[in-house]
Amino acid sequence: MIPRRGENHTALVTGASRGIGRAIAERLAAEGYRVFANDLERQASELADLVAEITKSGGRCEAVYCDVSNPRSVEDMVHGCLVAAGSIDLLVNNAGVLSVHPVAEIEPDEWDRMFDVNTKGTFLVTKALLGHFRGRKAGRIVNIASIGGKRGGPGQSHYCASKAAVINFTQVLAMEIARDGVTVNAVCPGIIDTDMGRNNYRNEESLRQVKEKTAMGRLGYPADVVGAVAFFASDDAAFITGQSLNVDGGIIFH
Ligand code: NAP
Repeated sequence: MIPRRGENHTALVTGASRGIGRAIAERLAAEGYRVFANDLERQASELADLVAEITKSGGRCEAVYCDVSNPRSVEDMVHGCLVAAGSIDLLVNNAGVLSVHPVAEIEPDEWDRMFDVNTKGTFLVTKALLGHFRGRKAGRIVNIASIGGKRGGPGQSHYCASKAAVINFTQVLAMEIARDGVTVNAVCPGIIDTDMGRNNYRNEESLRQVKEKTAMGRLGYPADVVGAVAFFASDDAAFITGQSLNVDGGIIFH
């Protein structure tokens, strides 16, 4: 029997209780990964539901809680995963937040919140695992950025700037750790039908405009995003690093 792709591998997925992160956790578990599914404690019942669903279908999943923007909590979470599993092969930095305000109405605290979760959170969880990856001379990091990090839209300057930073962070980190056997890539979703994605189409007219702008004429679904993550995590992507791949149905082409 051919072993499943992630057999004997372990993955940590942040922001995994719902939306894109949940779909990634489900896909990785189906590939054989032992998945540590992270989210905030307020998502405990959603995460318990995910763990139960994956376990029922024969997969392995454990819930781990922390706010990815809190350095101490991140270190404790990563330490706990490493003690439990012995090693981690794949980190998916997915946790993220979005709000919509024109620049003139963004309060400094709201600006900071975008960067604290989207950018600093990605940095903190990555940093907490770097020594482990380097020590093993192996590891995969996939950052969930956004097409907004390549071409921003009105009302999302703080979000788009935080995601542009994730794309650049991905490139620089890839240069720093390529020779340690670690690849770092980013996935840039377009408009995906999740709680967050719905901020981009608050009524029928804006939904129609989003679809019209998209070559495929439809929104994305969380299941549309997971293949790119699984690919970057796989042996097929062993010689690919520092890239940021749009998964957007053709809404932008660079
Ligand atoms: P979502 O449905 O809002 O899910 C995001 C998850 O991250 C939630 O469970 C959220 O918990 C969790 N989270 C937020 N802050 C956290 C923190 N500090 N620590 C740990 N977990 C935290 O969003 P999504 O649409 O699935 O988005 C997932 C990723 O894709 C994000 O990075 C997002 O920026 C990116 N993305 C999404 C779209 C889209 O159209 N949906 C497009 C491009 C990129 P709470 O709900 O409790 O806050």
